[in-house]
Amino acid sequence: MNSMNGVPTSNLKTNAMSEETKKCCRCGLYLAPEHYSKCSARGDGLQNYCKICSKVKVAEWQKANASKYKNLLRDWRANNIEKVRIASNLRSARWRSRNLEYSAVKNAVRRLRERRNSFPLTAKQKLEIREIYKAAKWISKVTGIPYHVDHIHPLAGENFSGLHVPWNLQIITAEENRRKGNSGPAVASYLPTVL
Ligand SMILES: [Zn+2]
Repeated sequence: MNSMNGVPTSNLKTNAMSEETKKCCRCGLYLAPEHYSKCSARGDGLQNYCKICSKVKVAEWQKANASKYKNLLRDWRANNIEKVRIASNLRSARWRSRNLEYSAVKNAVRRLRERRNSFPLTAKQKLEIREIYKAAKWISKVTGIPYHVDHIHPLAGENFSGLHVPWNLQIITAEENRRKGNSGPAVASYLPTVL
């Protein structure tokens, strides 16, 4: 796709003869009025630069006048304490709502890890677990079908959490594992009936 300043030219009216377009003094494109910001001081009520060129111009000026810009910004902030406060509150509200989800995920991962390490395993049991994971990898390689090591009773089950121990591990296909999700076996036969 052809583009000018990142804007697909097919979206822009570039007909110099049309009365509905205005030539941008910077990029020289003939653009429809919606591509210009308003400027009441000018006859046609539009800026001389298109919106994209205006942004580029401002960015260039800020870069060339870094210390002046910093001072201007500081003065503006000092004179607009209320606006700054509102903007800052908005930012932190947005940050909080994003991080709520984030920390929920982080906490879940931490609980799983704690659960994983909660059972004291012997060296032989640890080796057994490693062998089960190796076997799953090997079966996947040989068959070309992805196999996973699954916790028969999930570490984060709905009503009951399993352990990361050899006797709670089984090798099943990734497909079966997806279908199983976080549900345990149909009947947890060894659970006491009082549960
Ligand atoms: Zn322009």
